[in-house]
Parts: sequence; C-alpha cells; structure tokens
Amino acid sequence: MIISTKYLITGDGKTVLTDKAVYIGEDGKIGKIAPKEELLKEFPQEEVKEYGDATLLPGLMDMHAHLAYGYSQPDSFNFGAQLIMLYALQHAQAAFERGITTVRDMSSAHGVCKNLKLAEKKGFIVIPRIVHTDTGICMTGGHAWDEVEEADGPWAIRKEIRKQVRDGAEWVKILTTNREPYPEFTQEELDAAVDECHRRGIKCGVHAGTNPGIQMCIDAGFDTIEHGTFMTLDHAKQMAEKGIAWTPTIMAYTYLYKLCKENIEKNGDAPVSDPVMQKEMANYEFFEPAYKAYRDHFKEFYDTGVTVLAGTDMVMYHSPLLPLPRELQYMVEYGITPVQAIQVATSNPAKVLGVEKERGLVAEGLDADLLVVGGDLSRDITRLKDVKFVTLGGKRVFEDGIRYVGTGNMFM
Ligand SMILES: [Zn+2]
Repeated sequence: MIISTKYLITGDGKTVLTDKAVYIGEDGKIGKIAPKEELLKEFPQEEVKEYGDATLLPGLMDMHAHLAYGYSQPDSFNFGAQLIMLYALQHAQAAFERGITTVRDMSSAHGVCKNLKLAEKKGFIVIPRIVHTDTGICMTGGHAWDEVEEADGPWAIRKEIRKQVRDGAEWVKILTTNREPYPEFTQEELDAAVDECHRRGIKCGVHAGTNPGIQMCIDAGFDTIEHGTFMTLDHAKQMAEKGIAWTPTIMAYTYLYKLCKENIEKNGDAPVSDPVMQKEMANYEFFEPAYKAYRDHFKEFYDTGVTVLAGTDMVMYHSPLLPLPRELQYMVEYGITPVQAIQVATSNPAKVLGVEKERGLVAEGLDADLLVVGGDLSRDITRLKDVKFVTLGGKRVFEDGIRYVGTGNMFM
C-alpha cells in the first residue's frame, strides 16, 4: 500500500515533510518514504491511497486509559467479569476512530487487559496495542480504594506487585494522593514500590496530584507521574533531570470542572439527584483550581524539557471515550505547537514504553501504525477530529467512518 498526503508529521516534535508518500511493505512496516512518483515507479502493483490536502502522522498513543472502568456506570452492579470484558473491548476499539493505535491502561479490573491481548493474539478480535498495569494499588482507605487493591507497608506492597507481575502486569500503578493536601503512602512505602518494580525490570506510574505527595514520588523515582495537578516549576525541573515523565491528563480535570460549573449555573444549590454527578460535585472545589493550574502552568513546565505524555483518563459516565485529540488541543491552547503536541502523543510515549525502535515515528523500518487526517495538522491541531484512515501494523483498522474490526485473523 502507498499512502500519499500533502503533509507528513514524523512525530519527532519538529519535522514536517511535504509532498511525500509512504510505502507500507508486506511485513506491515514502513518500507520507504519518498515522492509519490518515485514509489509508483518502484511499486507499480501497489494499491494507492491518495489523500491530497491531508496529513500523515504516526498512530497516536493514549498513555492514561482505563478500558474496563465500570464504576461510574449507574448500573455498575451489572459490570461483572463478563460484561466488563465486552465494555473494555468496545472501549479499546473506539481508539481507532480517534487515530489511536496504542493504549497504556493504568488500572482496570484484574485480568481484563491480559485477556484482551490474549484474544487478539489468538485472532479473535482486532484491538489497538495495549500496555497495561493490573489494578492500581493504594493504601487502605486511600484514593479509589473501592476500585483498586489496598496494601499497607513495604512488604505488603511488594507482595501485591509480585502477584500482579505473576499475573501478567506489564506496568504497575500506585495511587498516593487524593483531593486533599496530604500524601497517603509513606516515603518508605513509595520507595519499596519503585524498588520492587525496578529490580524486576518493570516500570511504574503513580497517581500524584497534590503536595507534598508529588515531591515524595519524585524522590522515590517513579517512571511517570500521572496528573501532577499541583506540581511546581521546581518539580518539573527535577523530573526533567531525573527522567521522570509527566502525564497531565488536562482533559479529565477540565471536563469535570466544566461539567460541575454548568450544573451550578443551571441548578444553583438545588440538590443533585444523579448519584454519579453528586460524587463529582463534591469535588468542585478541587476541580476549579486544578483546571486553572493546567491552564496557567502547562507551558512553563513543558519548557523545562520534562517528557510530557498525552493521556485522557476519562472514566466519567457519558464522557467521551479516549478523547486524545481534545487533550492535545488543550496543550496547544496553553502554548505549544501542534507539531510538539503530536510528539507528546507519539514518540514521547514510545520512548517511555521502550518501543521507540519499533514505533512512534513515521520512519523507514518502523511498524506502520499510521494515521491520516484531513488538512494541514501542523497549523491546526483541531484537524485531528477529521480522521480519514488508520493502519495498525500496516492493516487498515479505520477508514471513512468505519471500523475494520469485525473479524480477526483467526481463519486467514
Ligand atoms: Zn486514571
């Protein structure tokens, strides 16, 4: 297959090529990048996809998702092992219409992601590439305790990590702050979690949004800090220096802030009947400064050179699934360029996941996880909404509004 577009964003944060086409080889890798005429001559039998005024870029990576999150559903009691698998499947496949080809799941019900991957390997289903933790780990009564595993003390935490690694976890997720200004795990517990992961060669991310929890997580040496909502410029500098990446999840907090604000404007102090909304309204006082913290500080933190990752973390009932294009739009609104924003969702995640030699860039020899959007994305990040074509390992998974996920490769 040859894909031809006017613009090509490689994903390195700076390079935009024009009037180039990409040849995808039989092996599902990018075989050659060259002017279209040259490729047509070299590969005359190939199917040609001509998109004209459009942009080709690497498939996007959502670095903070919860594919199997049924807790915010009004009938969450129905979301047992069977239903949650089907929910996670449709959630994962929704990635394709957003141009997402890799998802890092940062805590889902035990075994869901592992089994999705197994089903994909067997050819039952077509899903994006998934890199996953098991369920998150918090202290007893800590953040999201009713959704994740509770563990207290270094050895209980180490034991839980060992169990999760035994059961197929590829990353570990720790949660150590909630909305309050005190940390949950002690330094000793955080240090133990990081040590247990790193000595096993596993990376670990941590939910840390408030202080002094953020500094404790930097000191412990986590690989990624999730949210970092109230981090400071000094924190960002330390993270840049220590190689700790930051997944801000601007969208999640902004969405909740706006939702609560709308509710207040519409209903005033009237009691909220929807139990899901009730829970969020209780956190309004947190969401407003959270929204402002991202808006006012994102760019100065980005400028420290800290590795920024795009993640959505949208688990609210009725919230859009994996709205990564909107997350990148916020980053551009707050001061970075569209081409830099694309790097945050492509080659930055690839490096943090340790797959930069396989994907994350449009470059010869890498997997053809590719995305075509209409128009010049290097000038207008909102063009990400106009997804025309997506390939995963060279195979079409989305085209003109249709997902190509109905059959796997089981019988081929
Ligand atoms: Zn999350």
